[in-house]
Amino acid sequence: MAISNQTTEKVRERADIEEVVNDYVSLKRKGQNLWACCPFHQEKTPSFSVSPSKQIYKCFGCGKAGDTIQFVMDIEGIGFNEAIRHLAQKYGIEIEESQQPSTPEEVQRHNERESLLIVLNYAKNHFVKNLSSEEGRSIGLAYFKERGFTPEVLGQFELGYALNRWDALMNAGKEAGYDQESLLKAGLILEKEGGKCYDRFRGRVVFPFHNLSGKPIAFGARILTKDKNQPKYINSPETEVYHKSDVLYGIYQAKQAIRQKDMCYLVEGYTDVISLHMAGIPNVVASSGTSLTENQIKLIKRFTDNVTVLYDGDPAGIKASLRGIDMLLEGGLNVKAVVFPEGEDPDSYSQKVGRSAFSDYLKEKSRDFIRFKIDLMWEETKEDPIARAESMRQVIQSIAKVADPMIRNIYVKEASRLLEMDEDLIHAEINKTYLSQQRKEDWKAKHLENTSTPEALLPVEPKKASHKATLRLQEKETLRILINYGWQKISEELHVCEYLMDETAELEFETPVFKRMFSQYKEALKKGVLPGTDYFLQVNDNEVKQEVIDMVTHKYELSELWEKRFQIFTIKEADDLAKTVYSSVLRLKRRVVHKMLQETLQRMKEAKEEEITDLQKVYMEVKTYQITIDKQLGMVISN
Ligand code: ZN
Repeated sequence: MAISNQTTEKVRERADIEEVVNDYVSLKRKGQNLWACCPFHQEKTPSFSVSPSKQIYKCFGCGKAGDTIQFVMDIEGIGFNEAIRHLAQKYGIEIEESQQPSTPEEVQRHNERESLLIVLNYAKNHFVKNLSSEEGRSIGLAYFKERGFTPEVLGQFELGYALNRWDALMNAGKEAGYDQESLLKAGLILEKEGGKCYDRFRGRVVFPFHNLSGKPIAFGARILTKDKNQPKYINSPETEVYHKSDVLYGIYQAKQAIRQKDMCYLVEGYTDVISLHMAGIPNVVASSGTSLTENQIKLIKRFTDNVTVLYDGDPAGIKASLRGIDMLLEGGLNVKAVVFPEGEDPDSYSQKVGRSAFSDYLKEKSRDFIRFKIDLMWEETKEDPIARAESMRQVIQSIAKVADPMIRNIYVKEASRLLEMDEDLIHAEINKTYLSQQRKEDWKAKHLENTSTPEALLPVEPKKASHKATLRLQEKETLRILINYGWQKISEELHVCEYLMDETAELEFETPVFKRMFSQYKEALKKGVLPGTDYFLQVNDNEVKQEVIDMVTHKYELSELWEKRFQIFTIKEADDLAKTVYSSVLRLKRRVVHKMLQETLQRMKEAKEEEITDLQKVYMEVKTYQITIDKQLGMVISN
């Protein structure tokens, strides 16, 4: 199902990279660019940058880069058409094409992922609608009302009800045009022996899990009767679109608030999330059933560096989940914790004490993880010095997980005070932890080396490789200047592009991708177009696109921070354009000269005696030229 070019054009025009990326990670401005920890790879300091003026993103860590559409494709794991559809929806742009898929044939044509999302959305609507049926009102809605869930909360979380029948959803779904296969794949129905199918969720209130863009991807369902043979909660199975360990319940509803408040509450169950919302605390998510995973932490880290974990008042349960705190620390987050009175969880406690007392409680009882751990272990290890030493070691090991050395230091001081232990001793203990980690990593590295591929063990010709690399850099530099500054003037009547084209007329680019770009550049110039970033971003050549993005983004823009902190001033290239262009030309010429020298030397080796003198003269001439270039280059660089 194709989308019209006009729609794509409109999306390109309207979609703003900053707005779109901000839906997924929290961007912070530094200089001209916006920065965040990369959503595509694990990292603790931001190397993912977004340039609002160029409308592109680029990660200096993993190299992912592209424009707004590419970003949506990458982060949602969808194709070009789906990305356009997604952006069109966000910006209220009408999609010109045949209508949304509704018949089975149309659904089939969609890729599996997309069709699962459509089926799941249908099921969500079905469950919501059930709330107005007689059974739904008297059981489902009655339960929500009793819990004090407001209509706003019901709508915001799209809560629903599954009728207490074996085939309610299945039949309705089939009637609406969804086949059994899709319903099965979406985890909405189950197959009995003999091939007969039945609804997974029956006679339960239903909580949809949403992805970051607000689409339902799975369901959790709570039973309302006191049937001991039935589990209290059941969840969707893992599907193409739902991986339990990657999902946080409530992230879609919370992301904006987490970003604004720069803090995220982490709770256990989905009813806890909703209770907190109703208590006026919208920045909350739940790991929901699983113990915290690395991907869930990464997801939080996209929006904030600060997490407060809310623990049920159950000491045994808390101890079992302490590992979560270390994982959060390892993930580069600042961690606080709140414990509820014995026997209470966030849900029950908020209902008991009411909205304002509850939020006061969170504020008053939130402690940093050191205090929290010490409080947890101190009392019970009072009489047992060995157990106490062990608990001290655990606190220190948690501190060792803190990635930022400045923050780590603050915690060392805090621990020193609370544990009445010398700071140096704590540092020594932390170093010991690092050393043993280092040993493990060294061992791993060694063993990995031995299993590396045979190709990697082959000797490389170092000279050849480095010559090629230098060449690549020089060609890239020339194109970079052309694309960034081609339209600028270096003298009264001379543009950068004219000067560079003239100077490089006799040069052949050798790196394939730059060769292509250079000839595209020349062609465009002939047609009277001066190609800039936009021009190359629309070219249907991914390698070219990546290179262009690489050329127009530089990490140096980070240096504003450095300037402030260390009074280091970096050269602002555009201010001194002529110099940059000139040195680039000199480098290219030097390359030609170098080649000529090599060739002359070669010819001298093969030459007859009478030719030698002439060749020597040529060699000397070229050599002089090279020296001149080097001198000029030296002046350009040192000036
Ligand atoms: Zn990255």
